[in-house]
Amino acid sequence: MAAAGGARVGLAEERLLGGTCVNAGCIPKKLLVYAAGFRDDFEDAAGYGWSVGAPRFDWRALIENKDREIARLNAVYRRLLTDVGVEVHDTRARLAGPRTVVAGGERFEADHVLVATGGRASRLEFPGWELAVTSDQMFHLDRRPERIAIVGGGYIAAEFAAILNGLGSEVTQLYRGDLFLRGFDRELRDALAAAMRSRGIDLRFAAEADRLERAHGALRLTLLDGSHLDADAVLIAAGRFPNTADLGLELAGVGLDGDGAVVVDEHCRTTVPHVFAVGDCSSRTRRMDLTPVAIAEAMAVVRTVFHGEPTAVDYANVPTAIFSEPCLACVGLTEEEARDRCAEVRVYRSTFLPLKSTLSGRSERTLAKLVVDGASDRVVGAHMLGPDAAEIVQGLAIALTAGATKAHFDGTLSIHPTAAEEFVTMRTPGAP
Ligand code: NDP
Repeated sequence: MAAAGGARVGLAEERLLGGTCVNAGCIPKKLLVYAAGFRDDFEDAAGYGWSVGAPRFDWRALIENKDREIARLNAVYRRLLTDVGVEVHDTRARLAGPRTVVAGGERFEADHVLVATGGRASRLEFPGWELAVTSDQMFHLDRRPERIAIVGGGYIAAEFAAILNGLGSEVTQLYRGDLFLRGFDRELRDALAAAMRSRGIDLRFAAEADRLERAHGALRLTLLDGSHLDADAVLIAAGRFPNTADLGLELAGVGLDGDGAVVVDEHCRTTVPHVFAVGDCSSRTRRMDLTPVAIAEAMAVVRTVFHGEPTAVDYANVPTAIFSEPCLACVGLTEEEARDRCAEVRVYRSTFLPLKSTLSGRSERTLAKLVVDGASDRVVGAHMLGPDAAEIVQGLAIALTAGATKAHFDGTLSIHPTAAEEFVTMRTPGAP
C-alpha cells in the first residue's frame, strides 16, 4: 500500500512471503478444517438418500495439495509486491541504527522502518518437550498420527483437536485450568466442551504435562497427577510469543516490554518516532494476535506516515472464530464482561437443531446468543456455536460496529429457513 502510494519500499523476509497466516496458520489450517469436515458430510449424506462407500482418507494427498496451494499464494504475494515496485530481499534484516537496516550484507538508510515480524510458538520446557511438535510441524507431518495428545486450551489446541478428530485420529486434549478457551463466553465454552466430548475427543481439564519420553515405539506423556497416556504425536499449543529477538531493536533504541513485544502507541509508533511495529510482534495486539488486526494496523501506519492522517485502529468489536467442530464465533462482549460493565444486561439465546440435522440424524445443537445493554438497548455481544458460525458472525459484526440496538435486530426480517435468522427472531430474554 505504501509503494502503491508512491513510496520507495524495500521488504525483507527470511522465510516465506505471507507470514504465519499463509504458511503455518489461518490458510493451511482452514484447508485442514475443510478436509476434516467431509467426515460429517459423508455420514449426513445417507439420511438424504445417498449411499457412499466406506470413505478413505489420504493424509499425504491432502498435505501435497495444501502445499501446492500455499506455494501458489507465496507467488501471488511476490507478484503483488513487485507489481507496485517493492524491492523484495529474501533474507533476514536487522536494524544497525535508528535509520539503518542491514539485509543480506547490504546497508539501507530509511526514512521510516516498519517491524512486522510476527510471533513464534511457545514451547513448554518440561523434560522431553523436544519430542513434541508445535503447530508449525503439524502442517508437514509425514503421516496422520493415529493417537495425538494436545497440550493447551486456546485456539490452536481446539482447532487441531477438531481436525485430527475429524480425520479419524484418537485425540486427547489437556488443559491446565477448569475450562478451556479463557476469554470467550462461558456458556459457549461449556457447550463446545460438551460437543467435542460427544464427538469422541478426550478433553481433560486441570491436566498438566509433567514429562515426555519415548516408550514402545510411541511417546508416553506423563501428567502431573502421575497418570500417563501414549500417543504417536504430542502437540504443544500453549500460546505464541513475539518474534523480536536478534533484530537489532535494542541497538536502534526501540523499547520492548517484558514479553519481548515491541512497545507501541495508538499509532503503532515505537519508542523511536520513525520506527513502527504492527501485528503479533507488537504489544498492543498481545491479546488479539489476529491477521485482520495486523492488516488494519498496517493500513493505519500507511495513512499515518504517507497520507499525513494519524490513524488508530479501533479494537472494539473485533470478530473472531475458533474453527473447532462445531465452530465457535463471536463479536463484542461476553455475557460475563457485559455484566461487569453494564448496569443492566439482557441475554437472548436460542438452542436448536439445525434443519439439515433432521434427516441426517445428527443430534448436535446450535447455540446463538445476544448480549444487550439494558440501558441503551444496544447489542454489545453476539455469540454462536454451530455450523457456519464464522460466516454468520462476520455479518453481525457490521451491525455491532454500526451500534445496532436490539430493536434493529427485531425489525430485521429473516431469510427463512436459516440458522442466521435466529439472531433476528429471539424475543424473550432469560437465563440458560
Ligand atoms: P492461545 O493464547 O489461544 O491459547 C494458549 C493456551 O495455552 C491457553 O489455553 C493457555 O492457558 C495455555 N497455556 C499457556 N501457557 C501454558 C503453560 N505454561 N502450561 C500449560 N498451558 C499453557 O494460543 P494458541 O497457541 O492457541 O494460539 C496463538 C494465537 O494465535 C491465539 O491467541 C490467536 O490469537 C491466534 N490464532 C488465531 C486463530 C483464529 O483466528 N482462528 C487460530 C489459531 C491461532 P490459560 O488460558 O490458562 O492461560
